[in-house]
Amino acid sequence: MYTTQQEPWKEFFSPRPEDIVYEDAHVIAFRDKTPQAARHFLVVPRAVRIKGVEQLSREHVPLLNHMIQVGHHILNTTSLLPHQYRMGFHVKPFRSIPYLHMHCLLLPFRNTWQRIRFSEASGGFISAFRLLGRIQAR
Ligand SMILES: [Zn+2]
Repeated sequence: MYTTQQEPWKEFFSPRPEDIVYEDAHVIAFRDKTPQAARHFLVVPRAVRIKGVEQLSREHVPLLNHMIQVGHHILNTTSLLPHQYRMGFHVKPFRSIPYLHMHCLLLPFRNTWQRIRFSEASGGFISAFRLLGRIQAR
């Protein structure tokens, strides 16, 4: 279906097949191999080579919208309250992998440090919804 060259995400992530929870032509979602909350998934664009949120512009709004929809789907957010889950992106210097990936977390976090790492107050994380508003204005 795809060659590795068309799927640059494979240079950065190698989920086990059993950890893949969703995939379509544009994105793939899988369990984080070191979960930091009750449930922890990553949603990754398959073929769009972007290092991080600072490279996103208005042309990426459909992709980001799609990633958010997939996040809602895999977290099953219709049964959750807003404070029970989080979706978003690390920003420098907390970004660990130079390929765009959205964290989807079902709370609670496993420890205080993780709560800080995934909070906007730390300055190292941005919620997917805030980011969407920001790139729509770019
Ligand atoms: Zn990350």
